[in-house]
Amino acid sequence: MTHPCLTCGACCASFRVDFSVHETQELGGDVPDGLAVQVTGATRRMRGTDHSPPRCAALTGQVGTRAACGIYEWRPSPCREFAAGSEACDRARMRQGLPPYPAEATWT
Ligand code: SF4
Ligand code: SF4
Repeated sequence: MTHPCLTCGACCASFRVDFSVHETQELGGDVPDGLAVQVTGATRRMRGTDHSPPRCAALTGQVGTRAACGIYEWRPSPCREFAAGSEACDRARMRQGLPPYPAEATWT
């Protein structure tokens, strides 16, 4: 079995993703400016994550089938810190009609 995230993407289509303006390329960070929308002077948000339903503009593929982050190396800190297998992960998966994150023994 491949890594569960590669056939999921639910977290990228469930939550607002906000981060410091200092993470944008504009201020020397990595996140492409065109994918970041202004929230406040100090905060940016991944484009699409506050839509209804949410879907990050950087997400490629289809949630629940085959998904990938189009800016994986340049993704913002909330994405880097999001833990696969966490309660939030399972919540996102459930919202998308997916089963809970599988036990590691079943996919490694
Ligand atoms: S919701 Fe969980 S399993 Fe799905 S992509 Fe995000 S971290 Fe991976
Ligand atoms: S930047 Fe990448 S990892 Fe973060 S929400 Fe968007 S698609 Fe998902």
